Amino acid sequence: MDTTSAPSREQLRQAPKVLLHDHLDGGLRPRTVVELADSTGYDGLPTTDVDELGQWFADAADSGSLEKYLETFAHTCGVMQTEDALARVAAEAVEDLADDGVVYAELRYAPELFVERGLSLDAVVKAVTDGVTEGERKARAKGRGIRARQLLCAMRQHARASEIAELTVRHRDTGVAGFDIAGPEAGYPPTRNLDAFEYMRSNNGHFTIHAGEAFGLASIWEAIQHCGAERLGHGVRIADDLKISADGEVQLGRLASFVRDTRIPLELCPSSNVQTGAAPSIAEHPFGLLAKLRFRVTVNTDNRLMSGCSMSSEFAALVDAFGYDWADLQWFTINAMKSAFLDFDQRLDVINNVIKPGYAGLMA
Ligand SMILES: [Zn+2]
Repeated sequence: MDTTSAPSREQLRQAPKVLLHDHLDGGLRPRTVVELADSTGYDGLPTTDVDELGQWFADAADSGSLEKYLETFAHTCGVMQTEDALARVAAEAVEDLADDGVVYAELRYAPELFVERGLSLDAVVKAVTDGVTEGERKARAKGRGIRARQLLCAMRQHARASEIAELTVRHRDTGVAGFDIAGPEAGYPPTRNLDAFEYMRSNNGHFTIHAGEAFGLASIWEAIQHCGAERLGHGVRIADDLKISADGEVQLGRLASFVRDTRIPLELCPSSNVQTGAAPSIAEHPFGLLAKLRFRVTVNTDNRLMSGCSMSSEFAALVDAFGYDWADLQWFTINAMKSAFLDFDQRLDVINNVIKPGYAGLMA
């Protein structure tokens, strides 16, 4: 086998991958959106033609208009207001990820967005848990092993973070691995939800924080130093703390040094960042520089429906942009698995018995 040729799309699909940052309401199949709208009586879709709707999501997310981008989530959340709908979306997400070669995934969502028709927060989590279990079972039946966990997000602009943190702890033995805050970053610094993070810490719970996507270093600094985030959702703006001199030498600021020294994982989402304007293109995305400087970089999809992406397409885009080889891709994957909110022995098991043998086969 020619080991110098770039990984093919099919090889990238087969390679074991680990996904830490994927929104449940950002990963529906277009057909499912149409069918759920019909079965739940949601009449707000721009079109009920499956192909047209898929294109509409991609165009809306690409339009550069925040209003249009947010409208996409109004539709996905609009059709996810029943237990059956939530379970189906969760099961399909796990199946789709397994088909794409993902061996461990953390799916995140904000339970408070799915209570419009009267579901309790606990009922939302229970429905998703059932769906995830079903998805794992179906994937296994097709010979594709995947372990999936949930992260519960609180919306920064609402005032329910403590409630969601308590919900996370309540469900931690049945598939909920951690907590997060999502939603608009500007004007809603992480410290607004300090009580929730303190609750998580006092209960030995895990959490990540969306920080350093739309907003810069102050948000990252608060997330780590005040709130105690174990990982950074995006964190791409840590690149603002790198100074590049005329001769190409890179100097790390104190915050960037801290993040690198303490191995804080960056949940980087290249395609999503390009769509929301956090990076001009994949080739110009700070991913390349951050990886070169040996930050603990991980590759993530964020919203597979809106960005029309998958883990293997994100890997392919990074290979095209930065020329990564199998050793690099294995490193990103092990970085992600080391950073998962899963028990240490299980993380080791996936690294030693799934990831390393998988890449050894591809590198042989
Ligand atoms: Zn996100």
